[in-house]
Formats: sequence, structure tokens, C-alpha cells
Amino acid sequence: MNITALAGKLSGRSRSAHPPRVGQLVTGDPLSAGPDASHGLILYIEDVTVSFDGFKALNSLTLYIETGELRCIIGPNGAGKTTMMDVITGKTRPDYGSAWFGQTIDLLAHTEPEIAQAGIGRKFQQPTVFVQHTVFENLELSMAGERSVWGGLFSRLAPAERDRIDEVMETIGLSKCRHLLAGTLSHGQKQWLEIGMLLMQAPRLLLVDEPVAGMTPQETERTAELLSSLAGAHSIIVIEHDMEFVRSIAEKVTVLHEGRVLAEGSIDHVQSDPKVVEVYLGE
Ligand code: ADP
Ligand code: MG
Repeated sequence: MNITALAGKLSGRSRSAHPPRVGQLVTGDPLSAGPDASHGLILYIEDVTVSFDGFKALNSLTLYIETGELRCIIGPNGAGKTTMMDVITGKTRPDYGSAWFGQTIDLLAHTEPEIAQAGIGRKFQQPTVFVQHTVFENLELSMAGERSVWGGLFSRLAPAERDRIDEVMETIGLSKCRHLLAGTLSHGQKQWLEIGMLLMQAPRLLLVDEPVAGMTPQETERTAELLSSLAGAHSIIVIEHDMEFVRSIAEKVTVLHEGRVLAEGSIDHVQSDPKVVEVYLGE
């Protein structure tokens, strides 16, 4: 979610003669066609190296994500997990390597807003909902499409748009909270609302960084159900430390260490890998 753009929508700045639009890419742009995942892969990360003052946060990282899969990424602090997401979303440019969204979209050739528009949604650890707006309005504000920024809360929603918001509220389990101000929600509910705000933009790939940190056990369980239900229709990459949570959702787990893949496979496979036990699970 491009929070800067959304925040701009809520401030007076956007009420200019030419307000920025949410769906800013012109029709016909190759990006707006979305990723071509016809070969079964939604993300190709190959040989990616990112250096900070000579230190390699990512060191020849190679990783592929299948269309519709729910992949968990684990690894010790400093392993490069967040940097990997920064590369995928265009926030950080690698020194070397390639990153493709499907077969046709070169992530290294596009800006952060373009990448978001192409269908990659990112949820940061801290929820960033608009606390002074209701659940419904938060979802309305994050809707993709040609709706003008300025029109946002004031123009009438088309029935299909209203249905889409209802559908997302149902998915994230907040239908009964539609008129509540987001600021009054629990921590877990805010996290779900933010996932809902991403869903409004119909992303093909969702990146979720430590979703259950600070959640109660019940909220954690509900989040596991939510993310599992989104897989298939979406491809999802989840970074998480909570191994019980990872076990409850993961089909396939990738362990990062020192900027590269240390192990990959089922949760049982990686948990019994002596290298993984040594650098991570044995901590
Ligand atoms: P993780 O998310 O797995 O904990 P990060 O990707 O945040 O790891 O960080 C990987 C390494 O890169 C860490 O050693 C971190 O200190 C370093 N790093 C990350 N971002 C920057 C930056 N902007 N400048 C300098 N070093 C950074
Ligand atoms: Mg991190």
C-alpha cells in the first residue's frame, strides 16, 4: 500500500486542479496488464546482491515463488529478509542480479508506485490505517481504479464498488465493525484492516512482514486462517518468527541466512536441517 499517496489523498494537497489518481497508469501500459505467470511462477529473484557500505545484506540470493503459493520466509535477525522485500517493491536497488514479476515485468526497471500498480502489495509490520476514518472508509480510500482522489469519500460508490468493499470486509472478518473508527480497533483488527486495504487493490503478490507480532493467540489463529484463505487467488510471501504460526500456514519454508538461502522445503524438512538448527532454531 502506498501510504504516502493515500495520506496525500486525505490532505488538502490533493484538491488541486489535477488531483493525482489512484490508478495512474494509462491503459496500454505493459504494467497495467499485470504479470504473466503462465509458466507457473509469479516471482523470479536471481543472483541478487545488495551491499551497504561493502556489507552484503543480500548475497547472490536466488528464489522463485509459484503462482498462488503461500511461502514463509524465516531466518535470524539481519538475514536479509526485509531487504529482500525492499528489492521486490523497488525501494532498494540491487548491485547485481535480476528480479522479475512474472515473465514480463522487470522489477528493477520500475519505480515503487509502478510496482504497486502492477500488482505487488506490501504490508509493513506496524499497521498504518487511517485511525480517524471508519473501517468502510479505509477500504474505500484504498480502492484501485479510476476513482479520483478528491472524489474519494464524497462521490457515490458504484454498486460493484460497494459490493467489493463488503466482500473484503467479510474476508477480513470486520463486517460487523464497518462503521467503527479504525483507531478503536484492536491491534489484530487493525492488521486485518490493512490486509483488507491491500486486497482492495487486487494484488497478485502480497508481501507481509511479521503479521502476528503483538497479536493474541486467537488473533494469530485468525490471521493464519485469513492468509491461508487468500493463497491460491494470490501469491503470498510471509516473513515471520513465530514458528507455531509458520507451521500452521506454511506449505514451503525458505530459511535465509547471511543474505542467501540456507534451506528450503517443508517445515519438517527445514526444522530438522542441522544447518538451520545451528544458525536459527537453536538460538
Ligand atoms: P532481516 O529483515 O532479516 O532482519 P534486514 O534485511 O533488515 O534483515 O537487514 C540485513 C542486513 O542489512 C542487516 O545487517 C542490516 O543491518 C543491514 N541493513 C539493512 N538496511 C540497511 C541500510 N539501509 N543501510 C545499512 N545497512 C542496512
Ligand atoms: Mg526484517
